[in-house]
Amino acid sequence: MDYDVDVAIVGGGLSGLSAAITAAKNGLSVIVLERGDYSGSKNVSGGRMYVHSLKRLVGDKFKDAPLELPIKKETFEVYNNGRKTTFSFENKENDNSYSVLRSKFDRWLASEAENSGVAISYSTLVTNVRREDGIMVVESNRGDIRTPLVIESDGASSFVSRYLGLSDIGMNYKMENVKNLLGNNNFQAKNFMLGIKEIVERKAEDSAGEAKTILGLTDGIKGGGFVYTNKNSYSIGLTLKMDSLESNNIKSHEIIEKYRENLGMDGKILEYSAHLIPFYRYDYLPKRYDDNLLVTGDAAGFMLNDGFTIRGMDLAIESGMIAGNAAKKITDSKDYSDTYIYEKMLEDSFVLKDLKAASKISSLFGNERTFNVYPSIISNLIDTMFTVTDSPRENIKNVIRNEIKNNNISYFTVINDLLKVI
Ligand SMILES: Cc1cc2nc3c(=O)[nH]c(=O)nc-3n(C[C@H](O)[C@H](O)[C@H](O)COP(=O)(O)OP(=O)(O)OC[C@H]3O[C@@H](n4cnc5c(N)ncnc54)[C@H](O)[C@@H]3O)c2cc1C
Repeated sequence: MDYDVDVAIVGGGLSGLSAAITAAKNGLSVIVLERGDYSGSKNVSGGRMYVHSLKRLVGDKFKDAPLELPIKKETFEVYNNGRKTTFSFENKENDNSYSVLRSKFDRWLASEAENSGVAISYSTLVTNVRREDGIMVVESNRGDIRTPLVIESDGASSFVSRYLGLSDIGMNYKMENVKNLLGNNNFQAKNFMLGIKEIVERKAEDSAGEAKTILGLTDGIKGGGFVYTNKNSYSIGLTLKMDSLESNNIKSHEIIEKYRENLGMDGKILEYSAHLIPFYRYDYLPKRYDDNLLVTGDAAGFMLNDGFTIRGMDLAIESGMIAGNAAKKITDSKDYSDTYIYEKMLEDSFVLKDLKAASKISSLFGNERTFNVYPSIISNLIDTMFTVTDSPRENIKNVIRNEIKNNNISYFTVINDLLKVI
């Protein structure tokens, strides 16, 4: 069999670089094809990373990772009609997650990959992947690469799966922008969220960070918001259900402007970006292995939002590492159709276990009650508790009963929703 490299990885984000480092450490020849000028250039802005997988990926180098601040404080804010309810939790010992700026971080991880012997080809847009004589031909603006194994790490749009006809858009699908994707009948808007992020300048300096989860500031669109504290900036953003966004006429930059104003943030805006986020429930995850193909990270739909944690980055790193180890086993066996090994390894890991465990609560993010009814009930309830007038005070039990009645939902529905959370 004549080929150029053992493994070609499409996409030099977190999952692609993690797969590359692991495969290279396993002695395989690896090339990463990244469309950006450098890793992280297409991944501007920031987020919060749970670092357990990263620590295993880079070992002692973890101390050199350009992370921002350890998150020691969790805050939930629920907004409703000018009212705000806040819950906070602080643990000074906590260092299992950090705020991170992706342009800096991905660039660093890419240099770690190169130090491990990985070749990275930047400004390389993969335009098609096809099978030929039992191997894969990866076509790009810089020519073709022939390889027995492709690791697809190209993010939520998962173009490689689409080129190969594994995804619902079909074989003849060609790269298009998000607007055109929405016009495509096969594009399932319900399976995606739009993530909008801004980096806002911050003058204060702290050694610990805070993560805020925000409900009720999305103008009736299903979704939520976040604010993470970085060393010299805030990462603020919204994650909005695409199907809900489609049926509204509001532009995404208008929503985030209003959101920023409501939060009272007036610092200079340093960056803006918008990006697709996968929103599959566990049972509907896309296909993640095929002959000569392993799919990682967002491309495989590995995104978990259980209302308390938003996790895509650690799942991307872990699935990348698993793919790098599976690649070694597959290469050693020379049976490139035996990619089910990867699936088995994913099943044994926290990746699929955590996604499965979160599948019930994820369904709450598809319903209206979470974004409109419950914030209103919480605010009305607390408002009543702290309001004293000439009238006799209402019993809390009655307030809850009236709220449920006024919002046209049953006790059964509320209890059912509550059970999904716990
Ligand atoms: C607004 C928002 C907030 C988020 N917040 C968090 C958070 O707080 N915590 C968390 O854990 N996760 C968060 N996530 C999710 C997280 O960013 C992703 O899960 C993670 O980046 C997935 O990594 P990946 O490597 O699979 O994909 P990506 O990071 O998207 O990398 C894909 C790479 O492939 C490249 N590529 C794509 N197509 C091609 C092509 N055809 N040819 C060559 N290269 C290509 C891209 O340029 C990119 O570099 C958030 C996402 C968004 C959008």
